[in-house]
Amino acid sequence: MKLIAKMFLNGKIRALTGLHIGGSKTDVAIGDIDNCVIKTAEGIPYIPGSSLKGKVRSLLEKREGKELCNCSSCNICVIFGNMANKRLVETGPTRLIVRDCHMTEETRRKMENREGKFRNLDLTYTESKWENVIDRITSKAEHPRQTERVPQGAEFEFQMIFNIMEEQDVNRFEYLFLGLNLLEDDYLGGNGSRGYGRIAFEDLKIGIKTIADYEGSNEMHVLYTGSLKDFCLKEKDSFIKELQKKLGAE
Ligand SMILES: [Zn+2]
Repeated sequence: MKLIAKMFLNGKIRALTGLHIGGSKTDVAIGDIDNCVIKTAEGIPYIPGSSLKGKVRSLLEKREGKELCNCSSCNICVIFGNMANKRLVETGPTRLIVRDCHMTEETRRKMENREGKFRNLDLTYTESKWENVIDRITSKAEHPRQTERVPQGAEFEFQMIFNIMEEQDVNRFEYLFLGLNLLEDDYLGGNGSRGYGRIAFEDLKIGIKTIADYEGSNEMHVLYTGSLKDFCLKEKDSFIKELQKKLGAE
């Protein structure tokens, strides 16, 4: 099995509600907040590629009625890899790579300057919110604790790379969009039941580099720009057909 092409899915993730993707407590010491979000070495919150990938995977597993599939041969295992990191001899390498999603320059600048909706941030790039912890046995609210979160409106760049190794991978690539759509109606990170973690994929740009491109100009050919909704509603079917034709001719 050899690489035929790489698909690139670039765009932005916008936080429609506060976003809490937990970091470890020892990362950065911030006042009294005991429930921090994960941050880069510079102290800027980001969305780890593994969190995004894991969430999309688990939503697709739910869709298929599976739980933590590890068969290494179904579409989910081929796309996302299998848990044991077994080398997949028959099905080839994991198709999907998800990069860490860093905060956009614009969001950073607005936060640093306390512009618009970010004017009341209590920390440089985050806000803190008191959440009650409910005692599961008595159902009583107990010891409220402070949760750090990325505020609504923050934007992150995302990039996914999808390896096309064989014909069926075009359909697997299409299947990924089901996962993205499911995620928009679910949540990313913690505290989803409290309304945290609603996100939208925006400013989508889908491109391709074939092996011939890598050997030549190494330039990505952009095949679609626009919203995820428009893509799924109007473009996807013809896009996939075109792609199958193009790759069939490679
Ligand atoms: Zn599987």
